[in-house]
Amino acid sequence: MNPDVISFSYVLKDQHGAILDSSTAETPITFLVGSGAIIEGLEAPLTTVALNEKQEVIVKAERAYGLPDEKMIQQVDLKLLPVEEIKIGDQFRAGEDQQAPIVRVVAIDDDKVTLDANHPLAGQDLFFEVEVLTRRPATESEMEHGHAHGPGGHQH
Ligand code: ZN
Repeated sequence: MNPDVISFSYVLKDQHGAILDSSTAETPITFLVGSGAIIEGLEAPLTTVALNEKQEVIVKAERAYGLPDEKMIQQVDLKLLPVEEIKIGDQFRAGEDQQAPIVRVVAIDDDKVTLDANHPLAGQDLFFEVEVLTRRPATESEMEHGHAHGPGGHQH
């Protein structure tokens, strides 16, 4: 039997209760189980929780965006950066290429700037409130494409 396609809404908070992201029932996320479209630690509970009931799901950093990697933090000369003004928290792409990683300015020390290419949520435990709206077997064309179709999924 084909794996499921699941539509859900969510509110994502950090450990201090600040809302980081959300998606309502009008703009759900729809994904194919096993396709890697959503973080591992969230996928498993979504396959089992009751439909149309709000559920809390806590995802440890290791099963969310991973732990920060020291090697992804680098200090560079300020004059090498293609920007006029810079402040902590600024984000930019570390190259011309669309695939180049997004880096964040985490420290400025005279003419040296520390850049962090880790995912902004690396190292953070994530606190979700989720509601599964629909759960159904994937269609043959979804299986072929490797992603979910319809509202909240791919439209084509
Ligand atoms: Zn498709």
